[in-house]
Amino acid sequence: MSPNQCRVQNLLITMSPEFPIVIVGKEELYPFFGKADCKEQIAYVRDDLPKSVKKFVTSHELYHLRDETKWWVWREYRANFHAALRHPWGFIVCAMISLSMTRLRCYYNRFKEGK
Ligand SMILES: [Zn+2]
Repeated sequence: MSPNQCRVQNLLITMSPEFPIVIVGKEELYPFFGKADCKEQIAYVRDDLPKSVKKFVTSHELYHLRDETKWWVWREYRANFHAALRHPWGFIVCAMISLSMTRLRCYYNRFKEGK
């Protein structure tokens, strides 16, 4: 555990310069890889992801916390672009493991629901 990390109950929390990052189990977020709670200003990232994907997802979720764009498609594009520039390998691996039926269905439902 690095000096900027701590455990609260069973959660590993990393303090980024701006926002806390909480590492959670797969069961907390599946099928999503991460989540940005904009109200509480906390980023959540799954602990079962490959290291490169965790870095990409963390960068993606932290970007969401700073972004004030309203339209969700544009928000996702911006967060992915930002994180892919910083973690290109994580972006590639993330894209590859996102090609499961569960993830594709998840994207389809988001498009259908428009959020
Ligand atoms: Zn996102």
